[in-house]
Amino acid sequence: MDTAEFFHYIFSMAPVAPLAPAPPKENFHTHTYRCKHAQADSPDYARAALAAGMTTLGMSDHTPLPDGWTSSIRMDIEELEGYLQAVRQAEIQTGIQVIPGMECDIDAQYFPFYRDELLAPGRCRYLIGAVHYYRHKGELFYAADIPGWAHLASYTDTLIQGITSGIFSFIAHPDHFAADWDRWDADAKSCSLAISEAAKSAGIPLEINGNGFRKQRVNSMSGPRPPYPWRPFWETAAQCRVEVIANSDAHRPQDIAASLDECAALAQELGLEYGKVRLTEK
Ligand SMILES: [Zn+2]
Ligand SMILES: [Zn+2]
Repeated sequence: MDTAEFFHYIFSMAPVAPLAPAPPKENFHTHTYRCKHAQADSPDYARAALAAGMTTLGMSDHTPLPDGWTSSIRMDIEELEGYLQAVRQAEIQTGIQVIPGMECDIDAQYFPFYRDELLAPGRCRYLIGAVHYYRHKGELFYAADIPGWAHLASYTDTLIQGITSGIFSFIAHPDHFAADWDRWDADAKSCSLAISEAAKSAGIPLEINGNGFRKQRVNSMSGPRPPYPWRPFWETAAQCRVEVIANSDAHRPQDIAASLDECAALAQELGLEYGKVRLTEK
């Protein structure tokens, strides 16, 4: 075997890796100290993003609400302007694109506030819709507390209300319910399908949330797993050809790019395609 033949032989043995599109070098889900359960401020996250090779950073702290509902996990309304100012500072200081946004609880009574106040010119350029709480028969439940099918239906209805509202650029951790649903049964399937079909027909991407990979494992029938992302949910999303956004949901600057590789691996395995985050004009 001459040299040319030798190299031909060696290269023909090399496994052919599928060329997957590289995940976008960006993160659109980032919190600050103002929500009372995260650390640091926008310039700190922008420096971490720059160091991680990112070109775009979206800031999305937990929205303030005019009536102060669940104020212990969100910024106060008086902090809104300071938050936006810190986002502008972050862009000036680092030179990367830092986009002002907010993570908003899906609850129709706050939609006018989100639309008219948060999305007003000069304020937020995108809003994330999320279900951290849902109402069932007038009572409030945590999204990781799903005692039965009727509750899962209420969770799903709330989420779809956000998808169809036209207010949100994407929906955070749509599979949050899986933290308290340990079986891929008819109920889980129909809820996942309803969410995916609604997202597909509205053209709203769903978020693969990296923070779930970093949370404590939950016990399920198939053994311990992250509370979310939940693989069967994303298989359904892939069947419906829903677009996805992968985010770290950072609560500390050192987590700015955390778990994005895991999110990308899941997306690649299932053939999920990345969508774009819709932004309003500056
Ligand atoms: Zn969230
Ligand atoms: Zn978040």
